[in-house]
Amino acid sequence: MSKVLETRLEIDLQALEDNYKLLKSYLSQKTKIMGVVKAFAYGTDSIIIGQHLVKIGVQHLAVAYIEEGVRLREAGIEVPILVFYPQLEEIQKLIDFQLTPSVYNHRFLEALNAELALHEIDSFGIHLKINTGLNRLGFEIDDLNLILQHLKANKKIKIIGLFSHLAASGNKDEVEFTKGQISKFKQARQFFENHLPYTFESHICNSSGILNYPEAEYDMVRAGIALYGYGNNPKEHKMLKAVASLKTVIAQLRTIQKGDSVGYERKFKAERETKIATLPLGYADGISRNFGNGKAQVLVNHQKAPIIGNICMDTLMLDVTGIDCEEGDEVEIFGKNHTVLDFDIEQQTIPYEVITRISQRVTRVLV
Ligand code: PLP
Repeated sequence: MSKVLETRLEIDLQALEDNYKLLKSYLSQKTKIMGVVKAFAYGTDSIIIGQHLVKIGVQHLAVAYIEEGVRLREAGIEVPILVFYPQLEEIQKLIDFQLTPSVYNHRFLEALNAELALHEIDSFGIHLKINTGLNRLGFEIDDLNLILQHLKANKKIKIIGLFSHLAASGNKDEVEFTKGQISKFKQARQFFENHLPYTFESHICNSSGILNYPEAEYDMVRAGIALYGYGNNPKEHKMLKAVASLKTVIAQLRTIQKGDSVGYERKFKAERETKIATLPLGYADGISRNFGNGKAQVLVNHQKAPIIGNICMDTLMLDVTGIDCEEGDEVEIFGKNHTVLDFDIEQQTIPYEVITRISQRVTRVLV
């Protein structure tokens, strides 16, 4: 008998494919899409998602850490993989697993040179990251000459990609700022085009960049959140389909009376007779305690039910008064029929955070 999973994260590859096609429709034919699959592919499953993206035509993948790239290689993924935050202590693995580092400071550039000197390698490709205003990681425009000198002195390193990251590409109030970032990037690109004896690929757009700044398409774009079905504003959310659906079942039902309380610290106190459903899912599964006490709602038999009281480690409770339901009935925490935006009613956080938090103890299943 096949085991029916109670709590599971359902992954819908058709939705992924539809989101990919939508992004593609915003791009010219020649522009490559780099699928961002860091953080377990935004909380889903980086191997399942990575393999499927490659199958449908994605030519590059990106991860945050070297170990994430190693997992993809070990799963047989062969396309170029960019590592956004390669760590110095794992630099050797970049070579062993043919991973491409993002290089954003001189310290890393020097460490990479020292490592390459130990190997019989003629040419090693990097993507150079430029800070254009996010002020997180990246060389400054003023550093460009120094980088060039470094490259001239150390011939093994080749810039195969030049990139930057947009800070607010989904925000209508920040169009001028974003255009400023794009213009700074253009300047860096021009500099290397003028000074390097070979070509390289440029990329600056993330998901919202793809949807809002066609002029910044360049050779490649880096698509993350939109592939998983969310954007950075209501218009973007509407166009996309949720790939991940977190589901569970009602573990227990009970009716409590006026004055009775629910959960730790007795945070919920019934003001009337109240029907309570307990779900086998808690903060250890990735549902932040911030969503307790009425701050989020889930879908029970097509009806919305608020989370009440404090969320526990492995359980949470709902007020299902007036909802026709039984123990064992399915509940959608968020997903296809009830998006993260419907779940996070006060928009306490962003879909990125909600989906990437789903813990590894939740089984992933393909639907
Ligand atoms: N590029 C970089 C450097 C990132 O850090 C991220 C995600 O945070 C992305 C691209 C993808 O961004 P988005 O998920 O907004 O498409």
